[in-house]
Amino acid sequence: MRAPYGYQKSPENKHKLIPDEHAPIVKRIFRLTIEGKTCGAIANVLKNERVPTPGAYLRGKDGVLRKDKRVKYPYSWFQSTFRDILTNEVYIGNIVSLCHTSKSFKDKRLIERPKDEWIRALNTHEPIVDRETFYTVQKRISIKKPQNKANPANIFRGLVFCGDCDASLVYKKENSIEGTPKYQCNLYVHRGKRYCTNHSITAKSLKTIVLDDINRHIKLSCKNKAEYIDYLVCQTNSEINNAKASYQKEITKITQRLDELNVILQSMYEDKVFKRISEERYTSMSANLEKEEAQLKSRYNDIKSSLSQYSQNSEAAKKIADLIEQYSPITKLDEVLLNTFIEKIIIHEKRIENEQQIMPIEIHYRFIGKIGTSVNNCN
Ligand SMILES: [Zn+2]
Repeated sequence: MRAPYGYQKSPENKHKLIPDEHAPIVKRIFRLTIEGKTCGAIANVLKNERVPTPGAYLRGKDGVLRKDKRVKYPYSWFQSTFRDILTNEVYIGNIVSLCHTSKSFKDKRLIERPKDEWIRALNTHEPIVDRETFYTVQKRISIKKPQNKANPANIFRGLVFCGDCDASLVYKKENSIEGTPKYQCNLYVHRGKRYCTNHSITAKSLKTIVLDDINRHIKLSCKNKAEYIDYLVCQTNSEINNAKASYQKEITKITQRLDELNVILQSMYEDKVFKRISEERYTSMSANLEKEEAQLKSRYNDIKSSLSQYSQNSEAAKKIADLIEQYSPITKLDEVLLNTFIEKIIIHEKRIENEQQIMPIEIHYRFIGKIGTSVNNCN
């Protein structure tokens, strides 16, 4: 079997994969996708630089790559090639096998197995891309892209969603009364008001709000990175944050009580064995204690998972802070910057609050998710 693009079989151990001279191209394809480039745009970049496709060369028995002369268009990259590369877990160091099975004993045609039956061997070889990048790309490519040519002015493509129906917001260049491009709920535009409401926001307002918010983050991280990380953790899960101390106390109490119960149950059991208490009495008493034990254990697990969420949040906060600290305040937003910082933006419908018409906007950052809610003042 041929090694996947970007890898070759190790000369010492042919079961082991090692990155080859194409690994940087794989890395680059992932990076360009993160930056918001479509497969078509990446194909053009590679074609212009005359980067040969994975099928355009063969590796000889001597381990040297040679161009395959039978390939007619060695620089024509297909969308399906990118999809195969971008979705292959081999690039994060995993080997996934048994993805397919034959239809039946007689019918040998291959069909895809359900994903949960796939067999994964984790970290079998050196990864080419990091997991964060890989999983961000998986989310990105699951977004259905429009068939018509993407509008370069639509820098929020694939990033804005309706707060009521979860549909994406579509970019409307023309037909707008204000004469300025705007975003509207896809469901409302294509199916009508029985399905959703307008959720209309001008591209200009959206840019201003998002740019301000990103700059606010950059300034906070510039001022004091450690404080900024605390702020992020606080914002993402203030409940867990406030309850952290009391959770830890409760964990100590539960552990003590579980130890006690253990001792009591043990001695009761001995009492029963040596006939110091009756069988019926033992059964009823131990049933109660076991019920208490089960309740405590389930509470213990709940708290533990909340606390682990807390430490995951701190890690995520550190990641986005590491990213943000590399930037100084931005004057102009573009697609690359947006895709670097933002996972998605959720636009809620306008509503009246304190006699003001407002439009709440949730900006979800990469790694950490939602940090507060911005407001589009519609007056
Ligand atoms: Zn909607």
